[in-house]
Amino acid sequence: MAYDYDLFVIGAGSGGVRASRIAASYGARVGICEDYRVGGTCVIRGCVPKKLLVYGSKFAHEFEDAQAYGWSLGEVTLCWATLRDNVQKEVDRLNGVYLRLLEGAGVKLHMGRGRLLDRHTIEVGSETITADKILIASGGRPEAPPISGHQFAITSNEAFHLPDPLPKRITIVGGGYIAVEFAGIFNGLGCEVDLVIRRDRILRGFDEECRTFVHDALARSGIRMRTETQIARIEATDGKAPYRLHEVNGGAFETDLVMYATGRVPNTAGIGLEKASVQLNKAGAVAVDEWSKTTAENIWAVGDVTDRINLTPVAIMEGHCFADTVFGHKPRKPDHRDVPSAVFCQPELASVGLTEEEAARTLGELRVYTATFRPMKYTLTGRQQRTFMKLIVEAATDKVVGVHMVGDDAAELIQGLAVAVKAGATKAQFDATVGIHPTAGEEFVTMRTERPKPQPRKAAAE
Ligand code: NDP
Repeated sequence: MAYDYDLFVIGAGSGGVRASRIAASYGARVGICEDYRVGGTCVIRGCVPKKLLVYGSKFAHEFEDAQAYGWSLGEVTLCWATLRDNVQKEVDRLNGVYLRLLEGAGVKLHMGRGRLLDRHTIEVGSETITADKILIASGGRPEAPPISGHQFAITSNEAFHLPDPLPKRITIVGGGYIAVEFAGIFNGLGCEVDLVIRRDRILRGFDEECRTFVHDALARSGIRMRTETQIARIEATDGKAPYRLHEVNGGAFETDLVMYATGRVPNTAGIGLEKASVQLNKAGAVAVDEWSKTTAENIWAVGDVTDRINLTPVAIMEGHCFADTVFGHKPRKPDHRDVPSAVFCQPELASVGLTEEEAARTLGELRVYTATFRPMKYTLTGRQQRTFMKLIVEAATDKVVGVHMVGDDAAELIQGLAVAVKAGATKAQFDATVGIHPTAGEEFVTMRTERPKPQPRKAAAE
């Protein structure tokens, strides 16, 4: 049977675009559909605009610190509309780049939501398209608990488009990546920020010492950390700000904007998965094997819709491996070990490999090295921001199994060290590496003294 395409991709985000371009480069006839904007969450309402807002928000500290270096500044003001609109212009530019990338690769774009009618047929708007193979790369979306008044709250999707001026008080609910990143952004942009966390600390899943270090640093930076707090309902007079947030334990407080960052869920609804025998796993994501193949013989899935590691570079890796395997005759499985990641909170947190807790659970004896210091830049300015670094070493093999950092440029540093961890470098090889002076990074190759074994401590409230 002749199909319209060799491959049809549902979703033109990071994973879908990479897979379609690579498949086309191997000679496949490829179509792709997108119901919003090409580029996906990362480019349109995630990593890219978020990082630009982080840069924008950091000028507040830079202006303060500049004075100790002899600079006098006049009155410093922020025009949120300028920052917001310039960020959106960059998003538009990147959207154009992605469109041209698809066109250049010979991938045909169909605008509209893709819905499977059967294992080889997809409906996009009024079109009916057939394909030999299908890739589902429909991503994820924010999810907030359906409490009373939830309609008054925004998610990260809307945070990029807030009207000018920014609200005076912003409350963010959640303690994960998105919550702490936006807490830093709005704090830097001059808003009063409340962070509502249902546990005792932010960033569950990260190394415990790092979590605590970031948590305390955020509190010192002026963010009000409302720990062990849950919101029962949001009340608004005439449906407008200010909002009154009622806590489960009876307390209440007021704010001008509520943002929920309580996790994301895979986009699996309304795309006809059941019509093509594509099954979901227990977590509600598309179930895939180690080759990203779904339960249907000719259908694969990559990226957030599969809820493996929900990071752009991982989706890209999964999409590329799929295309190499299925169209390039170069079988390649995505490798989800030692994936580095960063949280662009302020200070930044980045890590690769195991946390100390994971290493303690899965390996034998460990050696742990830590360093805490005031970055050189702040010695003149008096800024009370410290950097924390940590190396976790498997004692039996001397292998460095985890590298963690909280501080300026942590993500940039950890990206380089991720190569060493991936290559299986030993602590002796770290020690044999000459540092670059004066940098923060040299600390990673000069950690000589093992940290004393920690005293048994109160278990974290997990
Ligand atoms: P996360 O899963 O990281 O965090 C969700 C947070 O919300 C957790 O603190 C969780 O608490 C809390 N939470 C969940 N449900 C509730 C509830 N009902 N009431 C109160 N709190 C709740 O989700 P994010 O939305 O922050 O990010 C989604 C994913 O996007 C991340 O996992 C990451 O993979 C990706 N991402 C990556 C970024 C990066 O690489 N820099 C940036 C942004 C996103 P608890 O810990 O108690 O479960």
